Amino acid sequence: MDWHYVRSQPLDMTKIEERIKRVQGIIAETCARVGREPEDIRLVIVTKSAEFEQIQEVIRLGFNHLGENRVQQLKKVASQVEEFIGQSPESAGLPKEIHWHMIGHLQRNKVRQVLSTISLVHSVDTLRLAEEINNSAAKLGLCPRVLLQVNTSNEPQKYGVPVGAATHLAEQIETLPHLKLIGLMTMAPLTRNKDVVRTCFVRARELHCEMRGEKIVGSQFTELSMGMSSDYEVAIEEGATILRLGSAIFAG
Ligand SMILES: *Cc1c(COP(=O)(O)O)cnc(C)c1O
Repeated sequence: MDWHYVRSQPLDMTKIEERIKRVQGIIAETCARVGREPEDIRLVIVTKSAEFEQIQEVIRLGFNHLGENRVQQLKKVASQVEEFIGQSPESAGLPKEIHWHMIGHLQRNKVRQVLSTISLVHSVDTLRLAEEINNSAAKLGLCPRVLLQVNTSNEPQKYGVPVGAATHLAEQIETLPHLKLIGLMTMAPLTRNKDVVRTCFVRARELHCEMRGEKIVGSQFTELSMGMSSDYEVAIEEGATILRLGSAIFAG
């Protein structure tokens, strides 16, 4: 063991590993309960409230799907991470590629500057935004993958297309050649009432199923991004394929 390496580790580092293990345990137990495979669930680690040392730790542990909800922060952290992976003496053991997930509201005038960094945009909720992504992607020679964000809680302050308008919007997005619509994203309200949370996730799952059934979307439409630190068990039970977890890993 390299003494210097051990000494340079901040004290809370093992805490993160512990928390990730705990999360993985809960994912495995929940999957077992409902007859799903943990391998079918992607864990996106949301870094918006993390220190950079904590992000490095997560990467050292082999996690390479990271999420941010603001463009400026995503750009900043992504470039720091790129430098860390490129220059680190440990680079042999680090993931070669980091997949960045844009999980927050995306303004149209910011699309151009982040498109090449983002692996999946979770927050497409208007045709104008989809068109902007499509146009920028065409110019950059990209074909980004996107999710349609649906407002399943009917809270007026939430982003996301209303459930009743989602199918029509998906149809329109499907006509755009330079992006790939691969599923839905939703957020439940912040409440301890699990029934309210579950109702939102069920709505998203049913909508996802309906869109596939009616062939509004193609066979690549497989993802359901739902479940945060406070509600990911319910999300798994209702079919989530992507979890977005921040505070369960970094807080406390
Ligand atoms: C911050 C954020 C998350 C993670 O939330 P936690 O409760 O910290 O797990 C997930 N999704 C979105 C859209 C977020 O903004």
